[in-house]
Amino acid sequence: MECTVCGSAIKEGRAQCGYCGFFPGFTFDDAGLAAEQRDADDHREAIVSKLKNFSVSVYDNSNENSSRSGQGTPRLLFGDGKECDNDVVWSREIFTQYRDEKTERLTINYESAGKKKSGAISIDIPPTVNYWRIGLKINSNLKLRVYLGTTVKGATMKDFPLSLR
Ligand SMILES: [Zn+2]
Repeated sequence: MECTVCGSAIKEGRAQCGYCGFFPGFTFDDAGLAAEQRDADDHREAIVSKLKNFSVSVYDNSNENSSRSGQGTPRLLFGDGKECDNDVVWSREIFTQYRDEKTERLTINYESAGKKKSGAISIDIPPTVNYWRIGLKINSNLKLRVYLGTTVKGATMKDFPLSLR
């Protein structure tokens, strides 16, 4: 069975989605399905409203004389879950295609229900652009979709599972 909220597979015999915590209903007439969709919408909204202060730590390659390892990690701010919900928020900062780097390693920081969380992610650098930004969107599957590019079209992306429970 697929979770109505996030689409994750709910294991046989389980009453609750292991990713987002939703309890699916078991009435499958029209009224039951409509009620389940309302519950699912409320559940998603409650989760997204508890996701706060998304930021991304990234190495700064803008200074050619700096060694990558020696650079500080500026923290780009993206806002709360509501701002990124089904909508890409792009960094104000622009990054230059630099050296022969093929991937960019980012650290994603955020708060979920008041607890600080973070995790690392590696994303391919889009090969066809000279400059790129970082974009964040809470996708329909409640994963954080991380983009590198200048527009969604042509950007590379990767889904980052969030800690929701
Ligand atoms: Zn779910």
